[in-house]
Amino acid sequence: MLRQLIDTFGRVHRDLRISVTDRCNFRCTYCMPAEGLQWLDRGDLLTFEEITRTARLLVERYGVESIRLTGGEPTIRADLAGLVQMLSVLPVDLSMTTNGATLRRMAPDLAAAGLTRINVSLDSLRADRFAEITLRDDLDRVLDGIDAALEAGLEPVKINVVVMRGVNDDELVDFARFGRDRGVEVRFIEFMPLDADRAWSDDAVVSLEEIVARIGATFPLEPVPRTAAPASRFRYTDGGGRIGVVASVTQKFCDSCDRIRLTADGRFRNCLFAVDEFDLQSLLRSGASDDEVGELLEGAVRAKWAGHGIGRVEFIRPARSMSQIGG
Ligand code: SAM
Ligand code: SF4
Repeated sequence: MLRQLIDTFGRVHRDLRISVTDRCNFRCTYCMPAEGLQWLDRGDLLTFEEITRTARLLVERYGVESIRLTGGEPTIRADLAGLVQMLSVLPVDLSMTTNGATLRRMAPDLAAAGLTRINVSLDSLRADRFAEITLRDDLDRVLDGIDAALEAGLEPVKINVVVMRGVNDDELVDFARFGRDRGVEVRFIEFMPLDADRAWSDDAVVSLEEIVARIGATFPLEPVPRTAAPASRFRYTDGGGRIGVVASVTQKFCDSCDRIRLTADGRFRNCLFAVDEFDLQSLLRSGASDDEVGELLEGAVRAKWAGHGIGRVEFIRPARSMSQIGG
């Protein structure tokens, strides 16, 4: 019988993010320290079988409807297409968030394995700035990767841009034009305090309101009605497509959030900003039954708090950075 993952506020959770590795070939300044992080041991990563067992339980028993693979950089997990194939038998929307650098090589295999759509992170359209942000001189490869994803039919292709004041906020209109020209939706993400270097400050955040006003001055926009998805969406009034804005900082969407997360080392998280994690890895490796695993999952969602409270004095930063949690 279908049960539900429901928190104390009555929110039903149906959107799963799975981090398949904590490793990354980039070092984005807003996500990872330049010297890298202490990587997990290989034996600590959930195996494909463990990931698939958990996903199957979440889909078949709890009605999870969408799964997004993330990381670290998901494309550097060996045989990612093999995992996609294992998950693709489940009746879900199966997507991935990637830095895009290896998509020219990997997109056809991922599409053939059953991946349906893709988000590519891209924070600057200027080669020198791209290299400063990611510490990799890979802008052309990422742009080519976006084309490869479109050619492989991984649509809709969406572009994730973390907007940081004084870093790339002068490119808002350039990104809007890029999205309109290429037929891709650009999602602008407010900079969140999950950077490993802890350099985040309020001043660096460019709000949804400002993003929409600055783009709207060149390409007029109107709002699209909200769904459970975290992005507020807007369409160009001339029919030129849409943008999304993920306003995690200035307009918290906790009330409608239905997202749960599994880290690469098998910790189950009920919120991106959670300070507590639930050790699913040990349970899976102790020979637990599906009922026992289900009990952990249900209890973890029941324990979900009301909202993350960024900006309030009681906000506690999670101990792990975005790349370790799986953004
Ligand atoms: N490596 C993949 C990528 O970059 O798309 C997947 C993992 S990455 C952690 C997932 C998303 O989190 C990316 O779109 C990235 O831009 C975003 N992200 C990372 N750190 C962030 C921060 N401090 N604030 C807002 N978004 C962040
Ligand atoms: Fe790697 Fe993605 Fe974090 Fe950049 S945002 S360092 S590509 S995990």
